[in-house]
Amino acid sequence: MKPQPVSGAWDQYRQALRNRVTPVTWQTWLEPLDYVTEENGTLSLSTPSEFHLRWVNEKYITLLNQVAADIFDASDVRLEARPNQANPESADLLEDEPGATGRPILSADPPSAAPKYSFENFIVGPSNRFAYAAAMAVAEQPGQHYNPLFIYGSAGLGKTHLLHSVAAQSREINPALVMRYVTSEDFFNDFVDGIRRKRMDEFKNRYRRIDILLLDDVQFFEGKEQILEEFFHTFNTLHQAGSQLVITSDRHPRHLSTLEDRLRSRFEWGLLTDIQPPDVETRLAILHKNAEFAPRQVPEAVLEFIASHVPNNIRELEGALTRITAYAALTQQEINLDMATDVLQDLIPTVNQRTLHPEEIIGATAAACGLSPTDLIGPSRRQPLVRARQTAMYLCRELTDLSLPKIGRAFGGRDHTTVMHALDRVKALMIEDKATFDQVTALSQNLREA
Ligand code: ADP
Ligand code: MG
Repeated sequence: MKPQPVSGAWDQYRQALRNRVTPVTWQTWLEPLDYVTEENGTLSLSTPSEFHLRWVNEKYITLLNQVAADIFDASDVRLEARPNQANPESADLLEDEPGATGRPILSADPPSAAPKYSFENFIVGPSNRFAYAAAMAVAEQPGQHYNPLFIYGSAGLGKTHLLHSVAAQSREINPALVMRYVTSEDFFNDFVDGIRRKRMDEFKNRYRRIDILLLDDVQFFEGKEQILEEFFHTFNTLHQAGSQLVITSDRHPRHLSTLEDRLRSRFEWGLLTDIQPPDVETRLAILHKNAEFAPRQVPEAVLEFIASHVPNNIRELEGALTRITAYAALTQQEINLDMATDVLQDLIPTVNQRTLHPEEIIGATAAACGLSPTDLIGPSRRQPLVRARQTAMYLCRELTDLSLPKIGRAFGGRDHTTVMHALDRVKALMIEDKATFDQVTALSQNLREA
């Protein structure tokens, strides 16, 4: 239970502070403060981080004291930093949505608790150690070490995780930095949109006046000449201004075939580093970390089984564990190796993995539910349509590497929070309801094998 201040006084205090500072200062620095206690003339408040504490102590302590004297029986404000809490699903919130909010990851965002995509939650092994260290160095001193930092490696190995970690960490250290995480596809769409609406100035402001640009999956630019030209200028402007660039790709720049040499050579100016598929120990360590949150004990043999059968993709590694723990909870069985082998049959890759598109997943799910794809994308909120839509969203998360906002878009432009809710709902149902578990499993198997 959170301690409660004398009724109303805390609200009054906050209101009084709010009236005396700018909205940005309020949101960035003062709104995130929490009440702890008021004792012997001292009002104790907590801050989200050490950095926040130092900043508020330096800039706003006089104001905090004055207002405390007016409203509380206290003239002395003391600050303490709250320990970080994990907030696993908030990672995608960092993704900037072009057109949707038009909001970069700005200083006005209240510093958030550690998201899933953080350095702390990144398991380091020989396959990713160098990329991890470089990303960390860049987050701590943007623009000063490796610029650009270029990270490449195949799908599901942690590139997006590292990009978001850079954003979270540098924001923690310096909330005043302006940073923007963007997929290359969104950058491209923004650019096209800028041209179409004759608002190139907006586009340029958006991408050239920032401290850190985190550009994900740059292989998307391959063969798109206009965007390569534009990105070349964006790159130069940022680089000259000393802004940090972090870029990811599924392959080395030399294999980005249609990339012009001038851009390719710029990618090699800073530091190029790859991420390799994790070795079995690292896979096991990642599973251990995930298993800590599982509702049931997962025996070591089962973790080893998963680690040895899912070698090339960490997303699939996580999916395998989720499936087993859900099945065990549902059937109220202890998890054991026989069960794991049975439940994970389809994950043991026999054929080359295909890239699945949301349309296929929506189509298959709709068909299985006796509905049409348009039903799933459309606005209706009737059952059983909503359930089918949520199932399809869950499968998109499991079977593609689309972010939550992207999945939302594939379902007729829904918000990422709707998707987040759908994932939670389906995860919960898979544990409670056998029919849901069977349906999700069957669809996932069919789609993978199709
Ligand atoms: P990529 O962008 O390379 O396709 P992601 O960053 O999306 O891969 O990672 C896929 C999933 O695996 C994410 O859930 C991510 O958190 C997890 N993951 C990847 N690498 C690690 C790691 N080293 N430690 C813990 N989790 C990881
Ligand atoms: Mg990615």
